[in-house]
This record gives sequence, C-alpha cells and structure tokens, in this order.
Amino acid sequence: MTLLAYQFALDPTPAQERGLRSHAGAARVAFNWGLARVKAVMDQRVAEATYGITGEDLTPSISWSLYSLRKDWNAVKDTVAPWWAECSKEAFNTGLDALARALKNWADSRKGKRKGRPVAFPRFKSKHKARPSIRFTTGAIRCQTRHAILPRIGRVKLHEDATGLVADVESGRSRVLSATARYERGRWFVSFTVDTEVSRPAPSDPGAVVGVDLGIKTLAVLSDGTEIPNPRHLSTALGKVRRLSRTASRRQGPYDPGTRRRQAPSNRWRRAAAALGKAQGRVADVRKDSIHKLTTDIARTYGTVVIEDLHVAGMVKNRRLARHVADASFAQIRRQLEYKTEWRGGRLIVVDRWFPSSKTCSACGAVKAKLALSERTYVCTQCGLALDRDVNAARNLAALGETMVAGSGPETLTGRGADQKTGLARQVAVKRQPGTATAGQTGTVPSQDRTAA
Ligand SMILES: [Zn+2]
Repeated sequence: MTLLAYQFALDPTPAQERGLRSHAGAARVAFNWGLARVKAVMDQRVAEATYGITGEDLTPSISWSLYSLRKDWNAVKDTVAPWWAECSKEAFNTGLDALARALKNWADSRKGKRKGRPVAFPRFKSKHKARPSIRFTTGAIRCQTRHAILPRIGRVKLHEDATGLVADVESGRSRVLSATARYERGRWFVSFTVDTEVSRPAPSDPGAVVGVDLGIKTLAVLSDGTEIPNPRHLSTALGKVRRLSRTASRRQGPYDPGTRRRQAPSNRWRRAAAALGKAQGRVADVRKDSIHKLTTDIARTYGTVVIEDLHVAGMVKNRRLARHVADASFAQIRRQLEYKTEWRGGRLIVVDRWFPSSKTCSACGAVKAKLALSERTYVCTQCGLALDRDVNAARNLAALGETMVAGSGPETLTGRGADQKTGLARQVAVKRQPGTATAGQTGTVPSQDRTAA
C-alpha cells in the first residue's frame, strides 16, 4: 500500500466558493474554541497553584485528544456555533484535528520527544491570515475526469484533467481516502489522498550508479555529463518576483521600519502582496514541474543514486533570491528521490555535506584546499585534469556510491560506518524505511501536480 496525494486546481462557482469559505471558517471556529478552552484550563490551574492548591483540588486538566475535543465540542456546539448544521461535521473535525496535532507537537517538542526546531504553543487562527482549508474523510468524495465531488459542496469543476487518477480508481488499483480543499495564492486547490497498488517497473539499468550534483545555474548535473538546465521560464518568473517585492516594500506594510512597530497595512500593500504571492507561486510551480521530471527520469534509469546532503535549514537563510529558490528545491529533490527510488526498488545514497565533492579530483583523488565558487572548471594541479566543476563533483559522488555498493550489501548501507573502506570521512547513507510515508510527504504524478507544499 502506498499513499499518494494528487493535487488539482479548482474552478468553483461563486456559490461553491462561498461554501468552501464557510466550511474553512467553521474549521477555524472549532480550532479557536478548543484552543481557548485548553488555555483557560491551563491558566486556571497555574493560578490555583499560586494559591497553594495542589493535587485533586486543582481544576482537572482536560484531554487534548481529537476524540475528547470532538466530544466536548458536540456538547457545546449549539451554544458556541448555533449555525453548525449549515456545515459538514468534517469542517469542525478539520479544526479540532489540527488543534490536537498542534498541541501534541508542542508537548512532544517540550519533552524532547520531537526532532527539529522547537514547536511553539498553538496560536489562535486569524480570519485574515490563516490559510483556509477543509479536509473531507467521509461521505461522497470522488474524483471525475473534470470534476471533484465533495460532500456538501457538490460537483466542483477541476481546472486540470484527472484522467490518470480516474483510470486508476476505476480499475480498482487506487482508492480515494480523503480530499482536502485549500485556498492558496488566490486560488482553491483540492488534494486527494489515494491508497494505490500501482507498481512501477524497476530501473532500466539496475546496476548503474549515478552521481547528481544540484546547482543554481543548472538544476542538476549528472556524473555522465548530462546537464539538466533550469526550467525555461524560471528567470522571467524570478524577475517578476523581484520587481513585485520592491513594489510591496515601498508601500505601507504590516511593519513600520521607522518606529519598529506593527501597523495596519494599506490596501495598496495588500494588493501588491497578493500579486507577489501569486508570482512566487508561479516560480514554485515552474520549478516543481521540472523537479518531478528530473527525479522521475533518474529513478527510472539508475539503480543507485548518490546526492549530497545540503544543510537546507541553514542555507535558506541566504538572502539571494535564486539561491533561496534553489535551496528550497534541494529539499524537494531529495524527498522525491527518496520515495521514487524506493518505489522502483532502487537505492538513494545521501552523502554527508562535509564530503569534499567539489574540491576532490575525480581522476586522481587529490583534494584542493580551496576552490572559489567562481571557478567553473576544475583544474587538477596533480594530474592535469580539466573538467566542468559540477560534472567533477557529480563524478566524485558516483565514485563514492560505487565503492559503497561494491564494498557492502544494501542493508549495511543504511548507517554510518559503511564508509570504512573508502577513506573518505563521515558520509552517511540514508535509506527510507518502508511504511514511513504519510500523505503529506508523498508525491504526485508530475503533470497533475500544481502546488508547492
Ligand atoms: Zn587529479
């Protein structure tokens, strides 16, 4: 069983759009109601503790589970939201589910049970800022060639063609589990979570190892010398983003740099910010389509794929726009290669970012102390090799992959220590464990994929 998400842009009628909005609003109401309740009990207990009240005399704490939150909501919904019957119960469930997850993430993070940066306590969702979203898990959810059928909302026109998904569902190979409608960058999208048995053929050259060097000037360079250029319209789209962000920064935004205070943004700023969001979305779409094509082609061809682990969280802080976009793509490329190689029984090796792939000579193995970013050609002072910098790096990655494949079975590739024979320090192979895919992390068929996460 594999979970996949298929996303399509929607073209709702005005009435359907109102329906989607009111459902998303209901989700927000339930979220905020639950959060207020949790906060009130927490504050009460803290206050009581300062008066010396302890143990059983304290106001009892309440459960944060979705089940309890839903039960409590059902008990009060007539008073809190007398209009509740106008919306599907899925709307309230969406909000309460999001709250239960947010509270769990915060609690786990505080107890050190959660990886990554600390998670803040959930905040109330604002009508103007929260991204409208509603998830349907029961009822009449269907995908047709040109329509999405959503409970209560009805038959909503798709902006794109869903023939591929419909064919898989009709043949019984895929099953739609849920549908999430969300408003993003001025448009509604639907994302179907699908359980699929569709199998993909093994790589055409299972014994082949390929090194992939990810770049800024090009999307990627392979160790066989293939250069995959950036998508054609990327630089135009980036230019538009730059221009619109300058426009927005000249207008009165939500932050006043003079007084360093928050302020009410002007309507002109709102318009500019909306246009900017749309242009940024365009960049993400253009980039994402080409990334899907790249990762599919690679996973289809090579049995072993070697990429470098780039420290994405740190690098995204870089302020140059092209760099920023490229960094955001690295994470996506890696994620897609992880599941696409696994689907086809291939293997992905992620090399530690301290491995000097750029500074090492791919012919003789000599390592340079320094290599300026401006040096586009790698010239080896030891053996005289002169090679495109990125091809050289990709070849080093491939060579490292070859050593690891030859030196050990696939199972031992999944941890540190697999590199003992290579003499190259600290590379780590990462292999995705089966069954760890969740709906939010899985991919889509390239042509149908529209949005960035
Ligand atoms: Zn050399």
